[in-house]
Order: sequence, then C-alpha cells, then structure tokens
Amino acid sequence: MKLYNTLTRKLENFRPQDPENVKIYTCGPTVYSMPHIGNYAAYVYWDLLLRTLEGNGWKVNRVLNLTDVGHLSSDADEGEDKLEKGARKSGKTVWEVAEYYSMQFLEGYHALNLLEPAKIARATDYIAADQKVVQTLIDKGYTYETQDGIYYDTTKFPAYADFAHLDLEQLKAGARVALSDEKRHISDFAIWKFIQPGEKHAMRWDFLGRPGYPGWHLECSTIIHEELGEPIDIHTGGIDHIPIHHTNEIAQSAAAFDRQLSRFWLHCNFLTVAGEKISKSLGNTITLQDIQDHGFSPLDFKLWVLQGHYQSERDFTWENLAAAHARRLNWRNRIARASQATEQNGQNSQNSQKAFMDKAAETKLFAAIFAELNQNLNSPAAFALIDGADLTSLAFWQQIDEWFGLGLLDDSPVPSAEVQTLLKQREVARAAKDYAESDRLRDKLAAMGFAILDTPEGQIWQYLK
Ligand code: AMP
Ligand code: ZN
Repeated sequence: MKLYNTLTRKLENFRPQDPENVKIYTCGPTVYSMPHIGNYAAYVYWDLLLRTLEGNGWKVNRVLNLTDVGHLSSDADEGEDKLEKGARKSGKTVWEVAEYYSMQFLEGYHALNLLEPAKIARATDYIAADQKVVQTLIDKGYTYETQDGIYYDTTKFPAYADFAHLDLEQLKAGARVALSDEKRHISDFAIWKFIQPGEKHAMRWDFLGRPGYPGWHLECSTIIHEELGEPIDIHTGGIDHIPIHHTNEIAQSAAAFDRQLSRFWLHCNFLTVAGEKISKSLGNTITLQDIQDHGFSPLDFKLWVLQGHYQSERDFTWENLAAAHARRLNWRNRIARASQATEQNGQNSQNSQKAFMDKAAETKLFAAIFAELNQNLNSPAAFALIDGADLTSLAFWQQIDEWFGLGLLDDSPVPSAEVQTLLKQREVARAAKDYAESDRLRDKLAAMGFAILDTPEGQIWQYLK
C-alpha cells in the first residue's frame, strides 16, 4: 500500500510496525458550533483510509479526539476561547455547548456511515495527563513562564521548522504584531494558559498554583501518549494543521517522550463552496442537515467527496452534489438489476450464466479497484472502474460497500409485498394489452418510488430516487 507521507514529501510503501495492527490518530473537531461539510470531508477521506487498511488485512486501532477545551479563535494563542464564546452567545454553559455539539458531530458521523474509532477521546478527560506532560517539559527545560501561561520555547527544539519546511526568519519578518513580553519567538506556543484575575473562563483547573487550562496543541500529544504510545503508524489531519498544530504536536512529543510521534502523516486538502472559502461571514457553512433539506442523502455527499482525491482541492456546488446523487442512484439501480437477475436465475437455471460477468473477470476487477485504493487512496480511479464494469453481481456490490461505506445495499431494499403485487398486476395487464390499466399501475408505482422499464427480457423495475 502506497501513501503520500507529509513527513518525507514522498509516496512511500506503508507497513505497520506491528504486522497485524495499525495505530492511527485523527485530529478531531472543535465542538463549539455545528460541523460543516468541510469538516466532514476530512473524516470521509479517513474512513476510506481505514477501510483500505482493513481491506489489506490489518486491524486498525484508531483514536479520534474531540476538542472540548482550550481552542482559541486563532492558532496564535490569541482571542477568546471558541467554546467560551459559543456558550456566551447561546446562554448555555461551556459543558452544555461541548456536549451538544459533540452529539451533533457524532450524529453526522453515523449518518455518513463512517467506521467507529476504537476510542473517542474527549480532551477534558485528559487534563491530569496534560499537566504531567507540561511538568515534564518544564523539568526538561523546554519552557518559559509568562503572565499568560507556560510557553514552549521552539528554539530549544532545533528540528522545529523541518516538518512544515517553515522559514522562521520570514515568519518573523511577516508577523503583524510585534512580539510581546509573552512570547519570545514567533513560533513559540502556549502549552498551558493561566486564567487572569477577573477573566471569565468556566473550564478551569488548578495547576502551578493558579487556575488555568491546557493549550490546544497539547491534547493530541497527550492522548496519543496515553492511548496509543509513540510512535504511531499514521497521523491524519487537514492541510491547515501542517504549519502550526502538527508542527507543535511533533515538538511537544519529541521533547517530552524522546520518541518520534508518528511514522506517516496524511493531510487532506480543503473544500470550498461555489469557489469561496467556507466561513460564517459568507453564510456558506453548509451542514449535513442542509444537504438533507435539499432532498439528498448524506451518503450522496460522501460519494461526492470520494469522487475527488483527498489531496486535491474540492469545490462543492449543489449541481455537483446532484451529479453525485445521480451516480449513486445509477449504482443502486445496478443493484436492483442484479437482484432481479438473481431472482430470475433462481426460476430459470439455464439462463443463470448470462446475467453476470464470470467469476474470473470479477476477481480481476476487484483486484484492479483495490489496487487503485492501495495507490494513495485513488478513489476517483476506483470509481471509474466501477462505472465501466458490466453485469455486476450482488456480491460485487457487497464488496464495494465494504470498501467505500456508501450504504448502497442498505438503501436498495427489495420492493415490499405490496409493490411486488402491483408489479405482477402490471405485467399481467400489459401482457393482456390492457394499456389503460398498465399505465395506471405504472403511475401508482412511480408515486411509490419505482420506475418500470419494458425490455426484450420483460418488465424490470428501478428506483426513482
Ligand atoms: P475545527 O473544528 O475548526 O478545528 O475543524 C476541524 C478540522 O476540519 C480543521 O482543522 C480542518 O482540518 C477541517 N476543515 C475545516 N474547514 C475545512 C474545509 N473547508 N475543508 C476541509 N477541511 C476543513
Ligand atoms: Zn491534533
């Protein structure tokens, strides 16, 4: 299996350290507002990663965190904590806000048929462990204390700029604000923040003699250490994480634990909406609920995401989503055709060879599709092979569902007994050339979501939506 490793900027052959198990960590969402489709796109790509790893026969041990504390409005340790802001706006407590949006996030996660992580780690459950890491970093001389908190001195970690290929001199020159007393170097970051007298901050823990809370980057280093142990095999996140968040995770973990944090780093690209960056001020923060309100399934969205490669920029439009919906409907109707062919074969066994491609061709096709996934998760190429395949069996679609989690079979139920009866009646009416009755039954079936096609082999049904 080949994966593009941000650490080396190369396509590399992937093998886990333990021949049977893969240790993975995925940076999770900040749970202070409704997740939008840009947030979910990332988890769709990582779902494909997990399914491909499993397809290779490895067991996957994946931890996903929920940032329910300490994420400030900017990556530069400035601004109001996002959760505190969310709570102030909604009149709820920060704990209620975090719980509510965690549940919302997980609801969408399930609607997208994403594989369950082995563990969902809430940052607030790791405060004591965070404090241990901070203390270790203090004891090892990697930090300095300011009025505002405990800062990681990035000049103490010579490899700091390596991961993101940062030009620290240029960063310094381009900095908009002069360095204050708080921060000695532009790239230094808070690992622990002190709550200032008079400052309202509901999430607070006593440490070093004062109330405070962890810096955002710390939780991932801590959770990986507690739950998986360094080095993990794969760490995933959005490309926005490369220059700051992941760079800081690497610096913290190397300094605290003297070990490499992760062997592979995978980063997915960003999604725009109709050519614009997703932002609240532009009013284009589309949610999974919006997708459903437009009459689409979250799984249409999942298919749309997988039509692109995780490293390419994607532009979402409703027209693009409609095209993905049409593709998924087409695949479901190929399942409908396969299930009708299976049924007919049962009734007429001489015919059973004709309806499906032969086993050897199917085995070859499976190998070709999976080879695309093993080539740095090339789902667009895999999808083209699916489109090009003819006479696919139900077993074929079962395998496709396992690799992509698109719920194709679940969303393609055999017609109910009532529909079956109407189909039979319509067949009889047409055979008897009673076209008025046959048309009436066709309309009735259409209203129930089924289309009728008259083919040389007889009447077949399809899903209309
Ligand atoms: P947040 O909850 O703001 O920390 O967002 C979680 C993660 O979602 C971000 O760090 C990104 O990696 C990812 N993300 C946010 N916006 C987008 C987007 N427009 N396209 C793709 N991924 C995004
Ligand atoms: Zn992280």
